Amino acid sequence: MGKQERTAVSPRRDEDYPEWYQQVVKVSDLAENSPVRGCMVIKPWGYALWENMKEILDAMFKATGVKNAYFPVFIPIRFLEKEAEHVEGFAKECAVVTHHRLESAEGGGLVPAGPLEEPLIVRPTSETIIGESFSKWVSSYRDLPLLINQWCNVVRWEMRTRIFMRTSEFLWQEGHTAHADSREAMQRTLQMLDVYETFVKEALALPVIKGEKTPSERFPGAVNTYCLEAMMQDRKALQAGTSHFLGQNFAKASGIMFQSAKERQEYAWTTSWGVSTRLIGAIIMAHSDDDGLVLPPVIASAHVVLLPIAKKAADRSRVMEVTRALARELGAVRYRHRRITVEIDDRDTGGRGWDWIKKGIPLRVEIGPRDIAQGAVMLGRRDRGPKDKESIGRDAFPKKIVSILDEIQQALFDRALRFRRAHTVSIDAKDAFYDFFTPRRIKRPEIHGGFSLSHWCGSAQCEAKVKEDLGVTIRCIALDAQDERGSCIVCGKPSARRVVFAKAY
Ligand SMILES: [Zn+2]
Repeated sequence: MGKQERTAVSPRRDEDYPEWYQQVVKVSDLAENSPVRGCMVIKPWGYALWENMKEILDAMFKATGVKNAYFPVFIPIRFLEKEAEHVEGFAKECAVVTHHRLESAEGGGLVPAGPLEEPLIVRPTSETIIGESFSKWVSSYRDLPLLINQWCNVVRWEMRTRIFMRTSEFLWQEGHTAHADSREAMQRTLQMLDVYETFVKEALALPVIKGEKTPSERFPGAVNTYCLEAMMQDRKALQAGTSHFLGQNFAKASGIMFQSAKERQEYAWTTSWGVSTRLIGAIIMAHSDDDGLVLPPVIASAHVVLLPIAKKAADRSRVMEVTRALARELGAVRYRHRRITVEIDDRDTGGRGWDWIKKGIPLRVEIGPRDIAQGAVMLGRRDRGPKDKESIGRDAFPKKIVSILDEIQQALFDRALRFRRAHTVSIDAKDAFYDFFTPRRIKRPEIHGGFSLSHWCGSAQCEAKVKEDLGVTIRCIALDAQDERGSCIVCGKPSARRVVFAKAY
């Protein structure tokens, strides 16, 4: 084997993928673990990603008539109890507030005091508390549809955590709508799934499969759950957005009733849909490389860093002058939902170029006396190798930056799509299916599997068997899956179409 080139992140993806992920989060300065187990501190470089996602999504939601509101972080336990499946789904991971003040303990320190008459849970999701408000806001069919979203944090007490992917507290948005009839509620469920698909493809440069969950993978209390599934570079699936058709389950639990046009009292039909800071984990896992983070330009924390080079003191003021003028010019250029964001790094250190590569900034621009004399700058793109730089005209650069960023955005999407296609196979034989998901050669820590498009008879037993044997689940039944007769990969019984099997986060 040839000598491996040294990479900025160690270990490499093919050496230890989970550890590589942790190192990318660290060297890119996105976030860190907090003193509270399972919670994260999102640092400015990471929070900027969330702000950009929020800004784009928020505008997309509002364009469909959705309005923002805010509901309490505390939910009375009796609210959760109203929907049997819902409580079962979330009971195991609830943080519960039982006291409302602190007292000095005898031996020093503080202890909780003043037990609450009714303990409160910290919201793991808000169907029940929002349902309570909806029941008061809706009385006639004229009050419908009700289209509400909230941006907030939620708490789910996770035992095994990983920054952005699975944390006890995370940030998200949850949309909640109520409708007068089933058809309209289903349309809204699918409409929001489409919004997520557009966003994830165009802003995050992530190709996704749009599909429906099997009954065992549904949101607790939902009638149908729809999802987007993306492939990470270890070939596992990551859910990049869900939209739930809740039927009348939550309307009955919360008493959301209205008088219909025919003057009958009816229960409303509701939906809920959400994406979270998990999407930051998706970007890291789908796009980044052995030199660190790679950010899609549309949501990048900043677009370009200017690196003035003045080894001689005499050059310094001229170089800084040109740098600042270029920063002003670039900052006036509009790119998608905002203006070009420019960083200037004038630290006098050799490693600063690598720092920005690790942080995933799309463009690095070096400006030295020789470049200035030639009316040019040196441009490095994060979607290309670290040494692959090109000279570009100083005056032309601000005019070209939008198309360069678009090119990078497209290149990341195309690369992710090629990767998914390369690791998506149709498997019909049970042995081949088991081989696909089982590491055989243990000499090299290879990453196995991917997406297998295989037949499934529809039984929960067959689904459970695969999960138990291989840790593989049905990610979704793709909405565009073709009707095709086949036999179930597990039991051999007839099946009408292929479904997407994969290991998942
Ligand atoms: Zn079967």
